[in-house]
Amino acid sequence: MLKKKIKQLLIGTNNKGKLKEIRDLLPANIKTFSASKFDLKSPRETGKTFKENSLIKSRYFSNKTNLICLADDSGLEIDILNKRPGIFSARWAGKKLNFGKAIEKVYKEIDRKDKNWRNKKIKARFICAISISFLNKKIACVVGKVEGQISKKPKGKNGFGYDPIFIPKKKIKTFGEMKQSQKYKLDHRSDAFKKIKKFL
Ligand code: IMP
Repeated sequence: MLKKKIKQLLIGTNNKGKLKEIRDLLPANIKTFSASKFDLKSPRETGKTFKENSLIKSRYFSNKTNLICLADDSGLEIDILNKRPGIFSARWAGKKLNFGKAIEKVYKEIDRKDKNWRNKKIKARFICAISISFLNKKIACVVGKVEGQISKKPKGKNGFGYDPIFIPKKKIKTFGEMKQSQKYKLDHRSDAFKKIKKFL
């Protein structure tokens, strides 16, 4: 663990939705920079787990900028699909990150497994691994999650990605229908942030 408190941090993502959520979760006294400000493309995610991919990103962006970097890797695991899309969650949306298309694919794949799925509970969870690196050195790496189920149809326009089809446990609304403040209290990213706070 670093002895000095972190004063400035590069957020290693080019995803605007994530960037906003991460900035909202960080303590206000930390100055943040975005990867897009440095015109840096994201590295290829060649890891086999969320943790490995978050480390690939935080190391890559730190090496490119010489700044301490925080990066996350997140995604949706659906049990009936053997935990897919998982680490491939962004890739299911194609190059243009079209999540309408990714959501269609989710429903198509679930249908293929079980035509009667709408009468059942389709368990799923969002996972978020967050790591902080300075150059190739790992400062921290944690995992957060939120359990829930897949909605019978997409609902709500808030949030991003798969939010319209995910209903967190013990709730009725999807993340897409919730106010941002309500989602933040429950979600995988804030769960991971709780665990990484002591490093900031
Ligand atoms: P990556 O971490 O950049 O590989 O992308 C993870 C992908 O998982 C995102 O592009 C979203 O599709 C999905 N995802 C991660 N977190 C969330 C979330 O909070 N809501 C909805 N979708 C999410």
